Amino acid sequence: MKIIIFGPQGSGKGTYASRLSPLLGNIPHIATGDLLRAARDDKEYGEKIRHYQDTGGLVPDEIVLRTLKKRLDQPDARKGFIIDGYPRNAEQAKALDKITAIDVIINLVVPEWVLLQRLSTRVQCKNCSTIFNTRTLPPKKPGICDKCGGPLFQRDDDKPEAIKKRLALYHEMSAPLIKHYRDQGIVIDIECDSPDIPPEIVVNKIMDRLRTFKKARGQAKTK
Ligand code: ADP
Repeated sequence: MKIIIFGPQGSGKGTYASRLSPLLGNIPHIATGDLLRAARDDKEYGEKIRHYQDTGGLVPDEIVLRTLKKRLDQPDARKGFIIDGYPRNAEQAKALDKITAIDVIINLVVPEWVLLQRLSTRVQCKNCSTIFNTRTLPPKKPGICDKCGGPLFQRDDDKPEAIKKRLALYHEMSAPLIKHYRDQGIVIDIECDSPDIPPEIVVNKIMDRLRTFKKARGQAKTK
């Protein structure tokens, strides 16, 4: 399945996508934020990427698209993928339509106070990008990644000023894109209105909804 996980910063896209991947035949979880972070030392684009990421702005479309396309061309993405963090504006949605068809959008609907609380206590592994939350999803040993033993850090863009800017950008440019996909009848809305729901519960809910969606699609096709 070709999936986009969509929602504001702090809605849990990465947390849920990384848990959905093994349940969906190990299709890769492709997070544009992580792809771009991995390219921060790039000779050509690194400086621009660092600038936009650190201040909470959007990296120019051309750089993001090139990075994403390269990742989607890898053999493991042929059978499907979960894209997290793309598209974020109308240009990006148009560009993606040209590269590949998407089967379903998982749209995470989360109130702002939950987002703010989660982002301010979020930490990420420097090596493998796994996300933890010092309040709701703490690592077993403080400051150390459970998965790879790497150091955990708070991203510069998770500091209050950058958070405000990123959420404003989401509401202005990204949130309206859902209509583009709703018109195609491929959006599954997942409501999560508490900061303390364990990720597994939300992941089960998403899996249930995906099964229902697939069944309905299958029936529609055979009619
Ligand atoms: P978040 O979604 O919580 O902002 P990400 O890790 O997805 O975190 O992204 C971090 C940063 O990477 C963004 O603030 C932005 O600068 C850049 N970025 C990621 N995806 C895109 C995109 N599709 N378009 C432009 N910039 C992006």
